[in-house]
Amino acid sequence: MSDPALDALRARMHELKDLGGILGLLTWDQETYLPSKAGPARAAQLATLQGLYHQRLVAPEVGDWLERAERGELDADTRAMLKVFRRERDHAVGVPESLVRALAEAQSTGLETWRQARSERRFDRFAPALTRLLELRREQADAIGHGGERYDALLDHFEPEMTTARLLPVLERLRSALVPLVDALDGAMTGPELFDGRPFDPEQQWRFTLQLLELLGFDLNAGRQDRSIHPFTGGTHPTDVRLTTRIDPRNPSPAVFGTLHEFGHGLYEQGFSPEHHRTSLAASPSMGLHESQSRLWENLVGRSLPFWGFLYPRLRAAFPEALAAVELEDFHRVINRVRRSPIRVEADEVTYNLHIVLRTSIEVRLLRDDLAVGDLPEAWNTEMERTVGLRPRDDVEGVLQDIHWAHGEFGYFPTYALGNLYSASLMLAAEGALPSLWDEVARGEVGSLRAWLHEHVHRHGARLSAEERVQAVTGHGLTDVDFLAYLRAKYSALSGKPLPSPPAPGTPRAQMP
Ligand code: ZN
Repeated sequence: MSDPALDALRARMHELKDLGGILGLLTWDQETYLPSKAGPARAAQLATLQGLYHQRLVAPEVGDWLERAERGELDADTRAMLKVFRRERDHAVGVPESLVRALAEAQSTGLETWRQARSERRFDRFAPALTRLLELRREQADAIGHGGERYDALLDHFEPEMTTARLLPVLERLRSALVPLVDALDGAMTGPELFDGRPFDPEQQWRFTLQLLELLGFDLNAGRQDRSIHPFTGGTHPTDVRLTTRIDPRNPSPAVFGTLHEFGHGLYEQGFSPEHHRTSLAASPSMGLHESQSRLWENLVGRSLPFWGFLYPRLRAAFPEALAAVELEDFHRVINRVRRSPIRVEADEVTYNLHIVLRTSIEVRLLRDDLAVGDLPEAWNTEMERTVGLRPRDDVEGVLQDIHWAHGEFGYFPTYALGNLYSASLMLAAEGALPSLWDEVARGEVGSLRAWLHEHVHRHGARLSAEERVQAVTGHGLTDVDFLAYLRAKYSALSGKPLPSPPAPGTPRAQMP
C-alpha cells in the first residue's frame, strides 16, 4: 500500500538528487574546462542553485512528510533512507540562511586570500579570513547542536556517528605506533632516484591512465576522466561519474596513483544499487568509507609488488628511455619509500596518518578556543616536529599547504586516516574470502576483488553507517590493528629490517560503541 507522505518525499528526494547532480556538473566543469573569465558568473550560478536546493530541502512540507512517513510500517531500506534524509535536513534546518550566505562569502574570500598568502609565503595575510571562517563554523556548530564539543558537529557532517571523544584516542594510538616506524624506516630504503628530471611524455601518461582505468574495470560508458590541478571524483549520477587526474611531465606518479585513487572513489559511485538511484541511499555513508575505497586501490593494490609485476612492463614500454635501466624491485621500493616530508600529499603510507594526527589535534584546539589563529603557524611547526620529526622551512611548507581550511572545511582531515584504517580491514576480509586474489592481481585480473567490493560495500550505499558496514563485512568496527599489521608486514619485507612492535594495546581491538 502506498503512503502519500512517502511518495511525496520520494518525489522531493528525486528532485534534490537532480539538483545535486547539476551542482556536481557545474563544479566539475569549474575545475576542468571553465574559461577563466567565467569564474564570477559560475560562482553566482552555483550560489543560486545551492539556495534553491536549500529551500526545497528545508521547506516545511518536507518536515511534515518525514514525520508522517516515519510513523508508517517501513522496510529496512526505506527506514534507512529516511534516516539519511532526516540527518541532512536536520543539519540544514538548524542553520539560518543568513549564516549559510555568510559562510559562502567567507569561503570565497578564504580561497582568494589563501592563494595570495601562499604566493607571498606569509600566513598573516590569510589569518583574518581564517579567523572569520572559524567564527562562522563555531556559530554553525552551535546552531546544529552538540554536547559541549563543537568539533563533533562539524565532524558529523563528513563522518556521521563519529565523535571527537572516540576519534582522538584512535589517532593518539596511531601516533605512538607510527613515530617509531618512521624512525626505523626513514632513510633505510635505498633505491635509485627515478624522477630526477627525466621527461615522461604527458600524452603517453594520459594514454597510460586511460588504459589503467580500463584494466581496473572503470565503466567509461558511465563516466569519464579529465585533467585538473587538484584531482577529484565528481559527477551527476552513478551513470555519470567524473574522475580527474593531474599530469606532471617529469614524474608519472601523480597521474598513475591519482588515477588509481580516483578510480577507487569512482568505482564506489558507479556501484550504488540502481533501485537506490535518485534517493538518499545512493551515497556513501561517510567520507571515511569513501576514502577507504580510494586508498584500497591506490595503496593496498596499487603499491603492491604483484600489481606492479603485471603493470611495470607496460609502464616501461610506455617510457622506455626513462625506465630502461630500472628494475621492477627498485621501482617498487621507490614508490613505497618512507621519507619524512613536511607535505601531506607527498607522504608515504607510514607517515601519512601522522599528518592527519597533527591537523586533527590543531582543528580540535581551534574549535575549542584553545588556540588562537595568530599562534597557528608556531603550533603547526612545533607539532610537525613532534609528530613527523621535521620543521617546515616556511608557511607554504607548513600551515598554508592544504586547501581545506581556506575553504572553511574543519572535520574533513580525520576521514583520510579513518579511510586508511578501514581500507586495511576490508582488504584483509577480501583476502580471506578470495584465496587466489594476489595470484589474479599478478595476472592483471582484478575482477573478483571488484565484485567482492561491490557485493559487500558498494551496492549497499548508505544503508548502514560506515562503521556498521565495516562491522558487517569484517566482524569488527574501527581498529588500527589491521592497518598496523599490514604496514609492518609490508615494510619489514621492503626494508629487510625488523621493525619495532606496535605499542601494547591499552584498549584491545576497538569495538562498536
Ligand atoms: Zn580521496
